Amino acid sequence: MASAPSPMSVHFDRIRTLKEGSPHYDGKPGPVVYWMFRDQRLRDNWALIHAVHQANKANVPFAVVFNLFDQFLGAKARHLGFMLRGLRQLSLQIRNNLQIPFFLFQGEAEETLPKFLRECGASLLVTDFSPLREVRRCKEEICKRVSNSVTIHEVDAHNIVPLWVASDKLEYSARTLRGKINKRLSEYLIDFPSIEPPTRKWVITEEQCIDWDVLIADVLSQGAEVPELNWCEPGETAAMEVLMGSQNGFLTKRLKNYSIDRNNPCKPTALSGLSPYLHFGQISAQRCALEARKLRTSHPQAVDTFLEELIVRRELADNFCFYQPHYDSLQGAWEWARKTLMDHANDKREHIYSREQLEKAKTADPLWNASQLEMVYYGKMHGFMRMYWAKKILEWTRGPEEALEIAIYFNDKYQIDGRDPSGYVGCMWSICGVHDQGWRERPVFGKIRYMNYAGCKRKFDVDRYIAYVNKLVGEVRKRKAENLLSEKDKVLRF
Ligand SMILES: Cc1cc2nc3c(=O)[nH]c(=O)nc-3n(C[C@H](O)[C@H](O)[C@H](O)COP(=O)(O)OP(=O)(O)OC[C@H]3O[C@@H](n4cnc5c(N)ncnc54)[C@H](O)[C@@H]3O)c2cc1C
Repeated sequence: MASAPSPMSVHFDRIRTLKEGSPHYDGKPGPVVYWMFRDQRLRDNWALIHAVHQANKANVPFAVVFNLFDQFLGAKARHLGFMLRGLRQLSLQIRNNLQIPFFLFQGEAEETLPKFLRECGASLLVTDFSPLREVRRCKEEICKRVSNSVTIHEVDAHNIVPLWVASDKLEYSARTLRGKINKRLSEYLIDFPSIEPPTRKWVITEEQCIDWDVLIADVLSQGAEVPELNWCEPGETAAMEVLMGSQNGFLTKRLKNYSIDRNNPCKPTALSGLSPYLHFGQISAQRCALEARKLRTSHPQAVDTFLEELIVRRELADNFCFYQPHYDSLQGAWEWARKTLMDHANDKREHIYSREQLEKAKTADPLWNASQLEMVYYGKMHGFMRMYWAKKILEWTRGPEEALEIAIYFNDKYQIDGRDPSGYVGCMWSICGVHDQGWRERPVFGKIRYMNYAGCKRKFDVDRYIAYVNKLVGEVRKRKAENLLSEKDKVLRF
């Protein structure tokens, strides 16, 4: 009779073997290492659950490692500060609550990871999943560089239905993916087991003492061009507070108006505000979906709309980046869209702005300028404005390639949730019609969906949004001036 599955085991379809190792030379398996990358959390993390389970099953020690790249997709102080402050909390909790050692390496993971695996004689490396090409290339290189005896597992801990289960091909639109995901939800949208501490203690290499203050000060000074945000507290606890805190949690206090107000930029708190946490993996989308689903009886429309964004739209973005190698260039657009954009590439534009003019929000459109400033200063542009913002870049630059390049550059540089599949797909949707359909043909846009100022004016109070952003910008500038003054004061007193 087959034994019942362990409560800690992970659905086998969630795991892909990137490399099959040969048995260890002395027949005894070595430790298990989890290379945490995209899913930076202890709670509700299938990759961590799988890794600990494998270690305990083989009765071998277990450790978690994180690699801080010298440069990753242009991350600045805003992103790295948020990430490292979250990891600092995680490293304390993992050691204190689970007795798991946490190692942090700096440099190229292709070098640091194989070196560490060699030193500790690991048999199994578990890592989480990202569809982005930089991460995939890095994993391919690691597979080549580790010894024959190392097995490498990749666990999709980010998507509710694992990407390769939901679909084995590039999906055309939300319509073609939705049914495939919904069909598998009962199997995958399930509760998480809690993690048990590893049974064998890590004694192989000395535990590392990380000077977080120095590390954070370093990344902040290097990426100072885009400073940290003061409104978005990093870490798993803060993420859960945003989801279901008693003060202002999305599900506890703000859910009921989500479907009515989510497209109104004057009501930013109608949105969940979860994207920074989802992007850095400080919260699991599966946890958000499980908790939202419990409220479906009282708020059916709001919950359904939220789950459509959180599951279908978000997982569609991963599908696009995984199956479309050109996910961030015009080459990745459908044939009809490329043709229509090229047919209109030489159309006369009313305005052409340089990257510098756009970056400084110096256009003739006060609404667009406000959205750009919301992104630069506040670090999270309202979801509705992101569409208008990107489409205007198409209208005001010399051609679709340049528009896409500029939009992605700003999005990655300033949005706290940037450098994410949803960002590349958001820009591709707005500028190249990805996952959208053709519309009435017009200059510059061709058949790509068009948005304009008059349309926004009909939808929401444009002046109120501009005033709201001006206030935000004023507050940030004031704080910056006060900080500068107090720094100067400190120097003088010293
Ligand atoms: C030009 C453009 C750029 C974008 N850049 C990013 C980006 O860099 N990072 C990012 O996470 N999202 C991006 N989006 C998608 C969307 O605008 C944001 O996810 C959303 O505004 C984040 O705020 P929220 O979590 O409060 O949203 P909510 O409405 O509360 O949504 C909850 C979650 O659902 C998911 N979601 C919502 N809308 C979308 C969408 N259209 N596509 C995919 N997933 C979605 C996100 O994970 C989001 O956190 C972009 C959209 C466009 C049009």
